[in-house]
Amino acid sequence: MIQEARNWIDAARRVVVLTGAGISTDSGIPDFRGPQGLWTQNPLAEKMSNIHYYLADREVRKLSWQNRMASPAWTAKPNAGHAALVELEKRRKLHALITQNIDELHQIAGNSPDKVIEVHGSMRRFMCWGCGMRGPMQLVLERVRAGEEDPPCRDCGGILKSDTISFGQQLVPEVIDRAMQVAAEGDVFLAVGSTLQVYPVAGAVDIARSAGAKIVIVNAQPTPYDDVAHAVLPGSISEVLPAILGSAARSLQ
Ligand SMILES: [Zn+2]
Repeated sequence: MIQEARNWIDAARRVVVLTGAGISTDSGIPDFRGPQGLWTQNPLAEKMSNIHYYLADREVRKLSWQNRMASPAWTAKPNAGHAALVELEKRRKLHALITQNIDELHQIAGNSPDKVIEVHGSMRRFMCWGCGMRGPMQLVLERVRAGEEDPPCRDCGGILKSDTISFGQQLVPEVIDRAMQVAAEGDVFLAVGSTLQVYPVAGAVDIARSAGAKIVIVNAQPTPYDDVAHAVLPGSISEVLPAILGSAARSLQ
């Protein structure tokens, strides 16, 4: 299966990639729903991820800011899976990288920001719920470190949050439209570390398949799309991605 997937990618002109939490777990960022997942371990974390609780309850926000400061993502480094996607871009085969992750590890690894479509936003930016202002998250975290428990927007006094899509919050239509459009433009659609259970993003697989792309799924657990995929590779993402995406010269070493 690995060799077959590799051949498709070697032959492809445009590879569209969708990544989920599974690609970042080898960088030490826990998954939400897995056995070691954030929600499994701390039910309060789910409340903090819900926009209605967040806006309504200052205590939830105070905890959220502490949680953001303590996130393992601030010190996380990209892993071999991220590096393999950078190599795919260097081979000029990466058409677009749709990601459900908010950690920006793809950009940190070296993928061009204009290739990365962040359907759930980024934890490295803040946004104001009142006026929509955005900026680097570290600016707000500095205020929290300096003693502000729930720092308000300096422009309008509104509630600040990370520039991510919380539960109960609408996705950004332009971002989703772009993701669905690129999904139809690849010869190979590679889904990595995503449970493919969250819509509309998971629907990108249907779009890619209808458009004639080979569907390759790399995920530790089964997904609802395994039956329609052309290849399902359940191994470690950090091992499987370099094996199927690396240049031919490298694979011969
Ligand atoms: Zn504001």
